[in-house]
Order: sequence, then C-alpha cells, then structure tokens
Amino acid sequence: MLSVIIAKPTKACNAACTYCSAAAEAAEKPKNRWTIDDFKHYFDKLVDYIPKDNYCLWLWHGGEPMLLGPKFYLEAYYYAKKKRPMLGMSMQSNILDYSHDKWYDVIKHVCGGSISTSYDPDVSGRVYRGSIENYTKKFFESLQMAMDDGIRTFIIGTYTNDMVERDLHMRKYELALNYGDQAFGIRYNYRYPAGRAKDSGDFMSPEVYGNMLIEVYNEWVRQAPDFQIVPHTQILEKIIAGGSRCPWTRHCAGHFIGLEPDGRVWNCASFADLEDDKYCFGDLNTQDFGEIMSSYPAREIKRRVATIPDECFECRNLDVCEGACARDSILFGGDIYDKTKYCESWMMLIDRIKQSVASGEANRVIEKSGYHRKAQARRRPSPMIVGKSTGEIKTDIKAGCACASDSIGENEHENAIANATGCL
Ligand code: SF4
Ligand code: SF4
Repeated sequence: MLSVIIAKPTKACNAACTYCSAAAEAAEKPKNRWTIDDFKHYFDKLVDYIPKDNYCLWLWHGGEPMLLGPKFYLEAYYYAKKKRPMLGMSMQSNILDYSHDKWYDVIKHVCGGSISTSYDPDVSGRVYRGSIENYTKKFFESLQMAMDDGIRTFIIGTYTNDMVERDLHMRKYELALNYGDQAFGIRYNYRYPAGRAKDSGDFMSPEVYGNMLIEVYNEWVRQAPDFQIVPHTQILEKIIAGGSRCPWTRHCAGHFIGLEPDGRVWNCASFADLEDDKYCFGDLNTQDFGEIMSSYPAREIKRRVATIPDECFECRNLDVCEGACARDSILFGGDIYDKTKYCESWMMLIDRIKQSVASGEANRVIEKSGYHRKAQARRRPSPMIVGKSTGEIKTDIKAGCACASDSIGENEHENAIANATGCL
C-alpha cells in the first residue's frame, strides 16, 4: 500500500530559479497542467493502492502547484476524500501567489492548515519577474500573510559550502527564532547537482554539511524552541520512536511514488528529477498500477532492502540510516546499491543526536516533541542506545525524561510532510 504520493500537476512555474531541480525544458512541455479530469483519472488508477484505514499523504508539488488555482484543489480534495477519507493532502509551494482571499480555504481545509515552502538565505538564484529582489520581497510578503492567517509554515533551504562559511545557516535559524510563536520549521538540505544545476559540480562537502547540521543541533537542543529543524528532528524521532524516514530508508519503494504531469510514475519526485528513463516505473495513461509496480526499475529499487553495501550492514547507525537514499547514490555517480556520498554527514549527525539522547541533554526537546509517547503508542521498547559513538552507553530514555504532554499524532501530518519533502 502507498503511504506518500508526490504528485506534480504541473512543471510550469512563476519563478525561474537557477538551481531548480527540474530541468528548464520540463516547464515548457505542451501537456504541462492537469485539469480536474486528469486528476480524477490518475486518482482512480491509484485508489486501490491507497489504504482505506490508514493515513496516506498526497503531496502537491511542481513546478508551482498554486498555478492551478484554488478551485482545482478543492475539487480534487473532495473527490479523493469521498473515496479515501484517511487521505491527507499538503502542498510544497513557493507561496508567491498566496493571499488570504485566494488560498486560505485551500491551505486551511485541504492541507490541514500548514504549507511547506522553500527559501535560501543566500538569495542568489531565486528570480521572480526578472529579479532576485522581486522574489525576496514577494516571498516575505506572502510568508507574512500566511503566518497572519495562522498557517503553519515549513521552509526548506538548500545550502552550499560558501553559505556555511558566511554563517547563513545560523542566520536562518535566528530568523525563525525571531518569529516567536509564529516561527516556521526549517529543513537544511545540501544543494545538489540536478535539473538546471546538473553541470554545476558539487555544492557542498559531506564534512561541511555534517558540521553545519551539528552546529544547528547544538543551538536547538540547548534552546528547545517551538519549531522543528529537519533532518535533526526526524533523526531524533527515528531514534526514539522508530518508523521509516526519507532519505534514511531502504523501504521507500512500493510505499512512495512520484507522479509526473504526464502520468509517468517514479519511485519519488527526486528520482523523476533525474530525468533518466531507465528509472521510470511506467505510465498511468497506458498501464495499470500493479503492472507499473512490477516493472524492472521498480523491482530493482525494491531489492535495495537487501542490497545496501556491506559497510552499511555493519554500521553502528544502520538502525537509523538504513543505508540512506538510493537516489542519492545515483546522483553522485554510483548505482542504486552504492553507498551515499553523504554517509559521513549522516554518521556525524546521528552520533551527535544519539549522544545527546544518552546523556539526557535532549530530554527537553523529546518532551516537547511527544516522540516518547509516540514510541509507546507504537509499542516500541524504550530506546536502547548502543554504539561506539556513545561509548557503549546503554540508556533507557524513560529513566531521564519526563513523559511528554503532547498528544500522539498531533504532529503526524506535519511529520509526514516533512518526511515527504525530503524528496526535494
Ligand atoms: S528521496 Fe531517497 S529515500 Fe526518499 S523516497 Fe526517494 S529514493 Fe527513497
Ligand atoms: S551512516 Fe553510512 S555506513 Fe552507516 S548506514 Fe548510513 S550510509 Fe551506511
């Protein structure tokens, strides 16, 4: 059964960012916007694989999904909810088109009151109506309007070595802090060479990325503010409560899919952005979904469950990292079964977070997040932290941590979104 469907109803966009992971030509293809009938057609082909009794996330992505207008999303939502009441929807948007009158109802009712967007603190490559200044001005106006409407926002940024040297990662963190109880969540991604930036070479070294993540974590765990930072909070949750988290999963195949505007199906949006047909699972216009998921590329990615590198099987952090992401292995010149280039970063961050859990340093953030109660709800034993990184410490988190007061599942929708948007 599917748990995340990342659907791109268009590849067109109202901005022109120089490092967009979608190739520029993709936005100009003739069939580049779904009608509501296109949505119904594709949804009906997937419906038997969307669980009736469990949560599944339909994430609108693009291109810029707001270009389809609010009516499309309201109609799609009510059509889908009639058939699958447990389905949730969310949106990854540049939010430049946000206004209360136009989008509040969609974001509040269709997307559960939250939206994921993106912005990079170096403001170097984001262009709207011909200039970076226009983009920046419009983005912050729209962000403020959404926040004033009580919309919870989550901002993804892509980082480079240069941005870390200029301390921009900490400036973004401080910007979130300054918003107080309106603060947005932040995702710290490394910028990667794909789409329009595919010939740009490496943007960020694994060591710099790992050190940047740790620096942010050190502040966050000390201050325990009211916003999430990702990947940190997802790793922390996985340590405490288990579960599968993109991009640290070898189980995504068959549970995630990426659906392109032309109806082709991929393992996820990130695989689609590679624009390499050998990884395409099939086409919903001409095949049924069962046939698509039995295709050779789909079977190859599913094999990753058992075919990650030996080094990963022996790794102290396999419980959390799982050998990381198949797409990332390909992106940097390997094949699906190779080790990811960012192994070093994940090792550094997972070690640091485990160590903070073992020492009790992370108790406040665990308490605030509710992860411990989620572990109990999942009937997962209290986490045993065992590893070279922690000096062979074994700890039972219950011993050092007050029980969280948050309700289980309160953040489930946001978590699912944050999880799915690892695929960006
Ligand atoms: S980004 Fe990687 S881990 Fe996430 S769904 Fe795609 S292949 Fe799987
Ligand atoms: S941290 Fe590195 S070695 Fe360990 S599981 Fe992840 S990719 Fe493999």
